[in-house]
Amino acid sequence: METTKRWPLPGKMPLRNPPRIPRVSRQRLREIRRWLERNADFDRFAGAKGPRCPWCPSGGLHRSDDLTAEWVGDGERILLMNLKGYRCDGCGRSLYDRRSELAIGDMLVATRQRNGYTATVSSLGGGKLGIYLPKEAIKALRFAKYDELRIVPLSRTRAFVEKVEG
Ligand SMILES: [Zn+2]
Repeated sequence: METTKRWPLPGKMPLRNPPRIPRVSRQRLREIRRWLERNADFDRFAGAKGPRCPWCPSGGLHRSDDLTAEWVGDGERILLMNLKGYRCDGCGRSLYDRRSELAIGDMLVATRQRNGYTATVSSLGGGKLGIYLPKEAIKALRFAKYDELRIVPLSRTRAFVEKVEG
């Protein structure tokens, strides 16, 4: 059976003091952001028992607060230490928590290489062409033999290259 609730009609809105959308100050925005950061779920496996490694079949992830992230940007080696997250006891790979990921992201943006790397297209014989990858690019992207690359043409002269991670 349906029931209809009857709400009292709202009183006349006083014209002298109309409702306003509250203005949020920068200070307040900062506070809100800090609060969100504090309360965000930074630990992706919080409460999970024995999280498994996403890369190897037998590995288990264990919490760690001494993870590092390392890359080469513009000929300069960048090393971030004391990052938090998980380390796999099988393959040794690290999975960073959200806060560490954000720190890495900030650092990457700050040190982003503007001009990228240059490579020359060479003839491999039999009408095939190949690209020799520059040492710095191999190091920065951790390319290894048989790594698969996806090349997405953006225009006739521009393309986006991505390592396909299995
Ligand atoms: Zn693993």
